[in-house]
Amino acid sequence: MKFQPEKSAVGKALPLVAIVGRPNVGKSTLFNRLIGERRSIVGDESGITRDRIYGESDWRTKRFALVDTGGIVPDDDAVIPANILKQAGFAIDEAEALIWVVDVRKGITPLDQELARLLRSTGKRVLVAANKADATSLESAAGEFHSFGFAEVFPISAEHGNGIGDLLDTLVTGLEERGPDDWAAEPSRARSQAPRELRLAIVGRPNVGKSSLLNRLLGEERAIVSPQAGTTRDAVDTLLETPDQAFRIIDTAGIRRKGKTQAMAEKLSVVMARKSLERADVAIVVLDAEQGIAALDAAIAGYAVEAGCSIILVLNKWDTIENKDTHTGSAFERKVREQMKFLSWASVVTISALTGQRVPKLLPLAVEANKARNVRISTSRLNEFYERTITQGSGILPARPHGGSRLHVQYITQIGIRPPTFIVFTSGGKAGLHFSFVRHLENRMREEFGFLATPIRFVERHKSKRRR
Ligand code: GDP
Ligand code: GDP
Repeated sequence: MKFQPEKSAVGKALPLVAIVGRPNVGKSTLFNRLIGERRSIVGDESGITRDRIYGESDWRTKRFALVDTGGIVPDDDAVIPANILKQAGFAIDEAEALIWVVDVRKGITPLDQELARLLRSTGKRVLVAANKADATSLESAAGEFHSFGFAEVFPISAEHGNGIGDLLDTLVTGLEERGPDDWAAEPSRARSQAPRELRLAIVGRPNVGKSSLLNRLLGEERAIVSPQAGTTRDAVDTLLETPDQAFRIIDTAGIRRKGKTQAMAEKLSVVMARKSLERADVAIVVLDAEQGIAALDAAIAGYAVEAGCSIILVLNKWDTIENKDTHTGSAFERKVREQMKFLSWASVVTISALTGQRVPKLLPLAVEANKARNVRISTSRLNEFYERTITQGSGILPARPHGGSRLHVQYITQIGIRPPTFIVFTSGGKAGLHFSFVRHLENRMREEFGFLATPIRFVERHKSKRRR
């Protein structure tokens, strides 16, 4: 199969709109209609049309990106509404508005009722597209869908185009376009968004120097520091503002809390770490250069990965290492990386919280990592990259050890940020990308797009048959 990447406006940050609904209501029909001529039909020799779940559209000079969650959630799973939210979770999270498609011919079904409840719980703006209202007589049937309490209900026919204009008029008036100022400079031509507040967690086992580092950070910055209640009753965050970036250092009270006994202190450090990491963008995992890496360090770092944080490994107490020469730093770094192989992508910095050595590097590094975790790469760029570096045009996975038909990667699309998450659509062969292939893909993507100190995730979506 050959890729024919969509011609999208690379470099523009578009508000995202997600199409949701139970199976067979007409989501992909509506998606295709909204994408319109811009849709590139990608055929291969066997004439199979690749289905698309992501595209871009515009209406009355407003451009937006569109994702069809029906392409993410297989029909079999989508009969349980909670699955729709779970599997299409990142798309829904990222979306500024949801178009909920229902079927006026079928009327309200129990699935719709359940889905309405879940959609309401997202707090997102929901526009109800009452589809299959092909005839005027059916338009009034759309009325019953007002009962869910969503103000915006539109009778439409995705197939024939009726009512689409009204739906779009309303949709685009509420859509926030992000101005160029909201978007930071881009690492390797990828788009990235710098949010206003960077949530930073400082974690580590007892006595590695967390509170010493916190004091340094707060003292060193000519910053406005103010305590802020965190989300849990006992958590206190500290806001730190530098000219370029506002930081929220998560649970600074917890950083200073110490256990009475060693065992107690260790337990507490894990509990605090897990709690803080849940809310954090970037984690500073503090290690003790003098003592080396302990099992507890790896466990805490593991939680940071699980939470999807960008990670800076800080080797503290660098002042205690004697007879240092120019190679000592890199030798230590190599050792740390060997002991935490799962963190090959993390940044490593040697510091001394006591003397302040290299502490000023940490916040700028966190800012860069935070940009990386907000990077959005257009589907066209991803597939251009894929074809150039992975398949060299063949579209076939390198070295698939199975007999029978080969697994193809049809295309890759980014479906989430913080951390960047990608769906790899495969077909043919057996589902299940080989881990060595995924690692290869990840490494090439890191070379291409950066992702400084940031984990990236892949989800495979295998298609055994053609969707309608
Ligand atoms: P999805 O599973 O929600 O993505 O639904 P599809 O877009 O695949 O559509 C399901 C079926 O409904 C297909 O047979 C479509 O042709 C049909 N359909 C979609 N939109 C309309 C419409 O506006 N009117 C009618 N009558 N049928 C439609
Ligand atoms: P926490 O339990 O992780 O918050 O660790 P603390 O910040 O309380 O530090 C534990 C001990 O290590 C204290 O005695 C600190 O003075 C000491 N310490 C912290 N950072 C450094 C450092 O960079 N160098 C040296 N030599 N000692 C440090």
